[in-house]
Amino acid sequence: MTAFEKPAIETRDALGKKLCATLVSVGYKTARYAAAAEEAAKLALETVPDGCTVGVPGTVTIRELGLMEKFAAKGCTVYHHWDPALTPETRGARLAAENSADWFVTSSNALTFDGKMVNIDGTGNRVAGMSWGLGKILFIVSLNKVERDVDSAIKRARDRATPPNVLRIGGETPCAKLGYCVDCNSPDRICRVLTIIERVPLGREAHVILVGEPLGY
Ligand code: SF4
Repeated sequence: MTAFEKPAIETRDALGKKLCATLVSVGYKTARYAAAAEEAAKLALETVPDGCTVGVPGTVTIRELGLMEKFAAKGCTVYHHWDPALTPETRGARLAAENSADWFVTSSNALTFDGKMVNIDGTGNRVAGMSWGLGKILFIVSLNKVERDVDSAIKRARDRATPPNVLRIGGETPCAKLGYCVDCNSPDRICRVLTIIERVPLGREAHVILVGEPLGY
């Protein structure tokens, strides 16, 4: 066994609970573990109050959990920019609405053992909303995104999260063809802003739900 190996299924719960304690120690107001996706969605619906505004950036995890529809069903107004009806003229206002909502609900490209959220973004709106925002933030992160340290977390974001994201938006980058990063200079490069949230940003109320089941990229 190497120094770090992804835990077997029977130890996932223990990892999730240990990481929750670590996340609280670095400033998250709550950090809870859900073994199953359905349970994670339930916790998210309990965390975000009825009737508030919710901003959802580019995140597959939140969509896989069906949370946008579930938030809307409990009277929340959900802002997101994967809406095909948006035009270049209206997209900017939607991005601003996302980042100034009562709750910003997102995942993370990776999470390290010591509680650092590592993210790579193209436009920068998602990482901006994670750093500063008017509202509270809820991270929902699957344990399949947990990495040993910041270096391996960046590698995960580039080699594993980015190629399917480029394919999703129809971009043409080397990683979309190769399946791994070559630190390209492509016009379609979506690795443009890298953030490492080491501690919860000052003045921000942040919560985390970790999920045992694989979700997102
Ligand atoms: S730098 Fe280029 S090749 Fe590497 S992951 Fe980002 S878009 Fe893909």
